Amino acid sequence: MAINNVTVLGAGNLGAQIAFRAAYFGKNVTSYDINEEALAAAKGRFEMIAENYKRDVEATDEQVAAAFEHLTQSSDLLAAVADADLVIEAIPEVLELKQKTFTQIKDVLKPEAILVSNSSTLPPSVMVEFTGRPEKFMNFHFANDIHVMNIVEVMPHKGTSKETYDAVAGFAPEMGMRPILLKKEQPGYIINTLLVPWLEAGAELWVKGIADVATIDGTAAGITNSPRFAPFRTYDIVGAGVAYAVSSMNPDPVMQEFARRLKEDFIDKGKLGVETKEGFYVYGDDGEVLGLSEQAKHEYDTSMF
Ligand code: NAD
Repeated sequence: MAINNVTVLGAGNLGAQIAFRAAYFGKNVTSYDINEEALAAAKGRFEMIAENYKRDVEATDEQVAAAFEHLTQSSDLLAAVADADLVIEAIPEVLELKQKTFTQIKDVLKPEAILVSNSSTLPPSVMVEFTGRPEKFMNFHFANDIHVMNIVEVMPHKGTSKETYDAVAGFAPEMGMRPILLKKEQPGYIINTLLVPWLEAGAELWVKGIADVATIDGTAAGITNSPRFAPFRTYDIVGAGVAYAVSSMNPDPVMQEFARRLKEDFIDKGKLGVETKEGFYVYGDDGEVLGLSEQAKHEYDTSMF
């Protein structure tokens, strides 16, 4: 099945990246968000993403302009999905919100349309009953900074048809992404099953006062031969909000202390990471690392560990 018209629901951190990516690769993209204010915020995100493409993948002005030609914004949910061959859901990670949105659109979608969720933590089987199209529903999970990561996880539930699975996996390269094929559901997919223990190990070393942020990230960069995957660089890319959501659910006292630090010393002070230009590191206008933040250098009392 040809996928030309793509609608992305939610134009936040990930939704805006996904929409821009598909438009950059020549798809007709509608980017939906809830109101004019959200659309204006998304417009700013698109401008920033375009700059990232120019900086990181040497996109030309013409390529960026062509991407914008393929990108339409809308706050009218039903109109936004009516002509879609593929709807990619990237709204907040709240099951009730996803449920409500799927219920609203299910009778408006074209019968052949495929619906996918970018959810990081909700497997398709917990959302499928609200979609009205079990065989045409699955997860399609992008990794943040998708213009440099270029990978997307393809995860079916038991009722996803082979036709849908193949269409979604086949669509990934059409938007310049390498599909990572899961054969069945796995919490955390493949990437986070690998990555989360790595990040939590970094957090543990910091919270217990074994080493400071610079030493931990420096060591990680040495192991992987890339600073990009160092734990605290990754926390800044993922964002303190997501890091807090994950760590606060972990009953381990070390992770609870990590969650507390994230909430009180980062989130409450508006230091969310790359998006706000400060988290564990301070970032320049082009997203380049300028150095460690003052908070990352703070000496905590770690005598309880
Ligand atoms: P975000 O908070 O940055 O963006 C969410 C967007 O959805 C906002 O623009 C908001 O206005 C909009 N929105 C709110 N309610 C809505 C509704 N009812 N309908 C449509 N839009 C609505 O969130 P995000 O980080 O982009 O995450 C979105 C989804 O992508 C989540 O399911 C998350 O698990 C997943 N995801 C996030 C990351 C990440 O690193 N942040 C990575 C992969 C997947």
